[in-house]
Amino acid sequence: MDRNTKRHLKDIDKHVPYDEMKVRKQAGKIRRAMRKGKGEVPRDNRVTEDNWETLLDLHGQTPKRASIADIAASLQPDTADVQVSDADYATAPIVISVGSGRCRVFDATDDGGVERDVVVPQEIAVRQKSALAVGDRVRIEEESGIWRLREILPRHTVLARPDPFHAHLQRLIAANVDVVIHVVSVKAPPLRPRLIDRFLIAIQRGGAQPVICVNKVDLIDDEELLGMELERLDVYRKLGVPVIACSTKTREGLDELRAQVQGKMSALVGHSGVGKSSILNALNESLQLATNTVHRKRSTGRHTTTASTLYDFGDGTYLIDTPGIREFGLWDLDRESLRDYFPEFAEPSELCRFTNCTHVHEPDCEVKDRVEAEELDDGRYETYVRLWEDLAS
Ligand code: GDP
Ligand code: ZN
Repeated sequence: MDRNTKRHLKDIDKHVPYDEMKVRKQAGKIRRAMRKGKGEVPRDNRVTEDNWETLLDLHGQTPKRASIADIAASLQPDTADVQVSDADYATAPIVISVGSGRCRVFDATDDGGVERDVVVPQEIAVRQKSALAVGDRVRIEEESGIWRLREILPRHTVLARPDPFHAHLQRLIAANVDVVIHVVSVKAPPLRPRLIDRFLIAIQRGGAQPVICVNKVDLIDDEELLGMELERLDVYRKLGVPVIACSTKTREGLDELRAQVQGKMSALVGHSGVGKSSILNALNESLQLATNTVHRKRSTGRHTTTASTLYDFGDGTYLIDTPGIREFGLWDLDRESLRDYFPEFAEPSELCRFTNCTHVHEPDCEVKDRVEAEELDDGRYETYVRLWEDLAS
């Protein structure tokens, strides 16, 4: 391993859950054991995240689970490290899709930009789904005609969700996203503001700026009814979160949406069926003519399980399409920091009887009083209490 690779591995370790770091360490042990001929050598002797537990078992090791606290500690985005203004960073190849043992990057420095298939070194491939994400800026090197990943540059934001099989592990959905557009629909599926609350916390926690996009407004003909539905989102506007009502059918709101993503890296997130792909197509249609769009084409290989895909709209505008996400992880959240995501409680909390009032069970709580007086949104308060109850103190 050369010095650069070592440095890079050390660097990304900061973003890697404890459990996954263990896998990497154990992978070394497994490989050594296999070389010595101990245990049965699997036909495909690559250590992957699907077989590592079996392999550990085979070689007499018991996998241990990381505690939530360990994982939480490893999740903080490393903002201090990043110099986003660095020209180097801006021109570094960008990951547009991630497959098994490979990724596809867009390299803007090469003759107007090219897409390349890049081999991901074993050390990263082992825990690739959490170590490498769409949106990552990377350094690559060509060796005998094969491009290899050498370094993942520090991230300034992360968007992650719980692993479907190991809820305590994170799966990176995208990296370095400036804006996350939470797409919801007024109808089919219906609007659920309580879900928005949770998405907002996860987005802000990862360091990105949230935007709410309410799609399918064409489905409610009655203006008054539509107005009432949209009013339910006024609370977010008051909190400074842009709320854009749109329809891919009537094209309403698309210009406003385009203005939000211009010159930035943005990701569309939300439940499946709310219209993320339709929005992307609607935005793409007008931009495609003038720009160098990164195609949906993915790296070959039967194990390709691309979760998110990045599209280059030109002029520094990137859009990431993500799979339907039901839930974001709120691993690194405790009761104390939960309050930071309800800034509307800050001013009234100064009038609570107890200075450290949690606004859940204390008497003479100004927050609760204002909720009862309908001066604070009761739905947001309900989310706060539910999360507070779910979280450890
Ligand atoms: P995704 O799963 O979030 O990517 O959602 P899709 O883009 O696949 O859209 C799901 C369904 O909603 C499709 O049948 C779309 O035609 C429909 N749809 C998307 N946008 C709109 C809209 O603005 N109005 C209406 N009426 N239907 C829409
Ligand atoms: Zn209180």
